Amino acid sequence: MKALAHSVFAFIFCIAIFELAIPETNKVLVLLSSSIALTLASIPDLDERMPKRLVHHRSGISHSIFTIVVCAGVSYVLLSRYPPLDLLVIPALTAAVASHILLDTLTKSGCPLLWPLSHRSFSVHLCKYDNPLANALVVLLSSLAIITFILYG
Ligand SMILES: [Zn+2]
Repeated sequence: MKALAHSVFAFIFCIAIFELAIPETNKVLVLLSSSIALTLASIPDLDERMPKRLVHHRSGISHSIFTIVVCAGVSYVLLSRYPPLDLLVIPALTAAVASHILLDTLTKSGCPLLWPLSHRSFSVHLCKYDNPLANALVVLLSSLAIITFILYG
């Protein structure tokens, strides 16, 4: 998916993480953490800016479920002693990376979810990453969910 779709989806994905894991969290803190997720949503695609002889786009390290685990674990180790920074950044980084990989798995090129155990790419084959309708739909539905949370959450 395109960067805008990743960002808006990461925002609502972070809200969903809070609602499921820590439902009584202050709404302002949830929105701040979700804003951080929005800004971090394209981190997995930084591999596009690396030299191709080192890393190819979606080659593994950036789009694996183990990347989500490592990001959550490292951010927990680094930030768990610094509340409320931990509550802002850990869910945000986890939501940003997880939502990114989830959306990319919907595309035809998919993601190597089990890297480094396997290089197989998993895909739902829903659309190409740059399909305008799919990207617009993700942005629209995510935006509606965000507005619903702000009004009624
Ligand atoms: Zn990606």
